[in-house]
Amino acid sequence: MNVLIINAGSSSLKYQLMDPETGAVSAKGLCERIYIDGRLTHNANGKKVVKDIPMPTHSEAIAAVLAILVDPVDGVIKSTDEIDAVGHRVLHGGMKFSDSCIIDDACIKAIEECIPLGPLHNPANLMGIRACQAVMPNTPQVAVFDTAFHMTMPPKAYRYAIPTEYYENDDIRRYGFHGTSHKYVTKRAIELMGRKDMKLINCHLGNGSSLSAVKDGKCQDTSMGLSPLAGVPMGTRSGDIDACVVQFIMNKYGMTADECLTMLNKKSGMLALSGVSSDFRDIEQEADKGNADCALALDKFAYEVRKYIGAYAAALGGLDCLVFTAGVGENSASMRARICEGLEFLGVKLDPEKNQTRGKEAVISTDDSKVTVWVIPTNEELMIAQDTAALVNAAKAGK
Ligand code: AMP
Repeated sequence: MNVLIINAGSSSLKYQLMDPETGAVSAKGLCERIYIDGRLTHNANGKKVVKDIPMPTHSEAIAAVLAILVDPVDGVIKSTDEIDAVGHRVLHGGMKFSDSCIIDDACIKAIEECIPLGPLHNPANLMGIRACQAVMPNTPQVAVFDTAFHMTMPPKAYRYAIPTEYYENDDIRRYGFHGTSHKYVTKRAIELMGRKDMKLINCHLGNGSSLSAVKDGKCQDTSMGLSPLAGVPMGTRSGDIDACVVQFIMNKYGMTADECLTMLNKKSGMLALSGVSSDFRDIEQEADKGNADCALALDKFAYEVRKYIGAYAAALGGLDCLVFTAGVGENSASMRARICEGLEFLGVKLDPEKNQTRGKEAVISTDDSKVTVWVIPTNEELMIAQDTAALVNAAKAGK
């Protein structure tokens, strides 16, 4: 089976053609500068091709992707009929989606209704969906939501302690993000541990970071909130912050709420604390050279992640398994060590040698550690492809 995975942003569109059973990717690439001019970067057959192609809308971007996939030289399939289904990454499913779903008119309407909750991403995701519908009307499509995995949280975790009318009238609550990644590593942790009945904390640590507390395979709490701004500090996002900071800055510097939120989303986090970069590799390098601001940024990040782990272990009533994933979680042995330092009281004992692993599935705790600590590389695309295949196959079987 061939599933085309689409991740549409406001001016970009990433794609992969994947076999959901083996996870083999036959082609992947990126359309950039949509609405500006248009550039396609395509990787297939061990070769990278870059082409400037006019992309006045997402439709031309999708058309360019399909054209190169069937190209006699750079393509990997003979006809677009070989694409069995399309899986779309969609940011916000609000309270309407607790799982992936086959795209039909009702699904599109519900994604539209979630636009106030995901004002930047949902419109772009919809453009990707509509563009695919236009050029491949007979191919089944599936929406996979970043929020869906977290919909099993109980009210005590998802409700904010603010007047109820904002929840009842406006759906203001904690949703959480990176759900496809949390779902994937949870599934793998269950497979690798050979048991589902466990208390698990996932640390998705990358440019954006979030943690989730999972019991018996179901999410109980997560660090991001109504938006991805909440939780631990990130590459350029502040993470959790007292709302009065926003009021203070707006009043003193005459900033609008939107300007202040842009500052918190794009100019804060590790970038602000380090004064150097939002990229952990740069920060680690500078810290090693003695830069005190970079050392503080790394210390602060590890401290906040450690605090969440402690809080979630308390929320779950114990901890069996701790998972590190995403760019930093998969690759930075020093950050994993910093985070786990001081967690011995919870039964977390890292093995310094095993912890040197990079980018592959491995246990990094000692044999006698009460908590099994794993590095599990995330694979959101595979999760999207598997969800898509499962829904499309079930729909076919039901016919
Ligand atoms: P992601 O958003 O998951 O792609 O993760 C991106 C982040 O992972 C960036 O801040 C990178 O600096 C960080 N990263 C990737 N590789 C390493 C590494 N070997 N050591 C430290 N950080 C890394």
